[in-house]
Amino acid sequence: MSKVALITGITGQDGSFLAELLLEKGYEVHGIIRRSSSFNTGRIEHLYIDELIKDMHIKRKINLHYGDMTDSSNLIRLIQQIQPDEIYNLAAQSHVKVSFDMPEYTADTDGIGTLRLLEAVRLLGMEKKTRIYQASTSELYGKVQEVPQKETTPFYPRSPYGVAKLYGFWITKNYRESYDMFCVNGILFNHESERRGETFVTRKITLAAARIAQGKQEKLYLGNLDAKRDWGYAKDYVECMWLMLQHNKAEDFVIATGEMHTVREFATLAFKEAGIELEWQGTGIDEKGIDKKTGQVLIEVEPRYFRPAEVEQLLGDPTKAKTLLGWNPRKTSFKELVKIMVKHDMKFVAKEDRIKKAFD
Ligand code: NDP
Ligand code: GDP
Repeated sequence: MSKVALITGITGQDGSFLAELLLEKGYEVHGIIRRSSSFNTGRIEHLYIDELIKDMHIKRKINLHYGDMTDSSNLIRLIQQIQPDEIYNLAAQSHVKVSFDMPEYTADTDGIGTLRLLEAVRLLGMEKKTRIYQASTSELYGKVQEVPQKETTPFYPRSPYGVAKLYGFWITKNYRESYDMFCVNGILFNHESERRGETFVTRKITLAAARIAQGKQEKLYLGNLDAKRDWGYAKDYVECMWLMLQHNKAEDFVIATGEMHTVREFATLAFKEAGIELEWQGTGIDEKGIDKKTGQVLIEVEPRYFRPAEVEQLLGDPTKAKTLLGWNPRKTSFKELVKIMVKHDMKFVAKEDRIKKAFD
């Protein structure tokens, strides 16, 4: 009998990679999607349309259900109906900057939403059957108290998103300690891919580099170029979510590469991959990224993208995951990650006939 998994946030970057991984492992995969007036299933279409899954090495397709992390009765009904062995709670309002504009919704979805899910499993008497993965985040460390950050580093969140996820972290730990449930936190550092949302800084840069290289965009406006992040590849990180639920003990893990780069470094490398050598001139809000060959200004700083409170740097220590889960944090290097994203976006942009102006 194959295992049954339920993924909340299956339409997101991580949800789509995780669904692929679990299908490959022979799981029966269910996912919760939100009702939307336009399609929000672009990242997972290949996993439920018969003609598309024919080419994949999987036998079954995913099962989708309408639901929302703000709706307890819906979550209870779905969990009762699906009877999952594993739940991966990836659903969230996941954008830090947006969380300053929508703090209450972010708290409801990311914080209380986690409680609703745990409580649904408990109310249904499934505490001993169902293992739960909670998508925690390096944003919990915020104003960092220790470098690098590990499982024992104190938290100091710096955004409504970070604070909402802090609740999610502690309520998960509390249900584990109170009811002996197998529920764990993956404290994942930033992870990116060709499927990353277009308003996160990495994808914003790789798309802009591709468009500028193809003459479809003039300039890229960014916020804090000095921010440093520990960026990994999402496809490698979802493997860890699964490993955490197969582990013999319910415990929390930091998932990171152990390497940190600035936004400026990411942009320099991405533009290079797109065939443009950048040089940087000026400082602060007057800093500019200039095309070495033509002297044209391609990147400018736009204070609109600054955050009310910034997380200046994040660097994770993945030793525990490496040792106990046998996970390889350096499977995809920083350079390879940038290459994958730019290569994808060069092709993607070539098919675009007009530039979409996203809210970012
Ligand atoms: P995405 O933003 O790509 O995906 C978020 C998913 O959550 C989408 O499927 C979205 O649906 C869904 N969602 C949002 N609000 C609700 C709601 N109220 N009810 C139900 N579903 C909802 O995020 P990622 O895939 O990048 O991240 C996955 C998880 O990991 C998130 O919880 C995120 O906060 C966390 N995380 C991510 C990191 C990263 O670097 N990517 C780092 C650390 C943690 P829709 O498609 O309809 O919008
Ligand atoms: P986060 O780490 O979850 O906030 O992921 P983001 O990709 O949104 O941001 C990473 C870092 O890049 C943060 O420190 C941002 O302040 C910084 N940054 C600089 N310019 C931009 C920008 O134009 N958009 C975004 N999203 N972030 C930017």
